[in-house]
Amino acid sequence: MSSTRVKTLTCDGLEIPFRFIKKNNKYSYFYFNEPGIIKVHMAKRTSIRQMIRHIEQQQTTLKKRFIDAQPLPKDDSIYRLFGKTYTRLNGEGDTVIINDNDGSITIPSDHALKQFEQTQMMRAITHLEEKYQNNGVIKLSDITYNASYMISRYGSCHKQKRKIHLNLQLIHEDMIYLEYVFCHEICHLKVANHSKAFYALLQSIFPEYKPVRKALKKIRLR
Ligand SMILES: [Zn+2]
Repeated sequence: MSSTRVKTLTCDGLEIPFRFIKKNNKYSYFYFNEPGIIKVHMAKRTSIRQMIRHIEQQQTTLKKRFIDAQPLPKDDSIYRLFGKTYTRLNGEGDTVIINDNDGSITIPSDHALKQFEQTQMMRAITHLEEKYQNNGVIKLSDITYNASYMISRYGSCHKQKRKIHLNLQLIHEDMIYLEYVFCHEICHLKVANHSKAFYALLQSIFPEYKPVRKALKKIRLR
C-alpha cells in the first residue's frame, strides 16, 4: 500500500512541490527525475512531519539538486557551434540565420539546419581521424561514423561492425569534448569494457583525458 501527498515547501527561498509516497522501505529517498517536483519515497516508519523537518535541515542541498535537475530553458536566439556563440535569427519562412562578428551563415530551413549540423560533425570527425590515424594501436581506416541527438549517452561503439555513433549535441560544445568522446569510442574497438586496460589505452592516445572526462559529465544532454 502506498499513499501520495503533494506539499509545497520553501527551500532556501524557493517554493518546491514535494510528492510524498509512503513505501515499505527501511530508508527514505529523494528523486529528482520528474521536472518541477521532488519525489520522496518515505520509509515505513517515517511521518510526514519528520520528513518535513529533515527537508528543512537539508533545504540548501535540496534546492540546488532541484535546480540542477530542471530542463534547460530553450533559448532560440543563441546558437553554439564548437563552443563559439552565434546569434540565431529567424529569417523569412523557415530560414535560420546564424550570425557572428565575422559574418553570417544563412540556412534555408530546419531540415537544412539538420544537414548543416551533420556536415559540421562529419567534418570534425574527418579532422579527428587524421589527427589520430597514426596512433599505432587502433586501426581507423575501416570505421563508419554517424551522429544523432541522444539523451542518454555521448557516444557508442559497435566493435564487430566497426561503427561509432556520436551524440550530435557535441558539436555545440568545445571541440575538446568531441575529441575525448572520439578517443573513448575508438578505444572500445580494442577494449569493450571500462577496465584498467581500457583507461591505460585511452591515456596513451589522449593523455589529458581525466579533466576533460570530468568536465564532460557536467554537460547536460537534452
Ligand atoms: Zn565507454
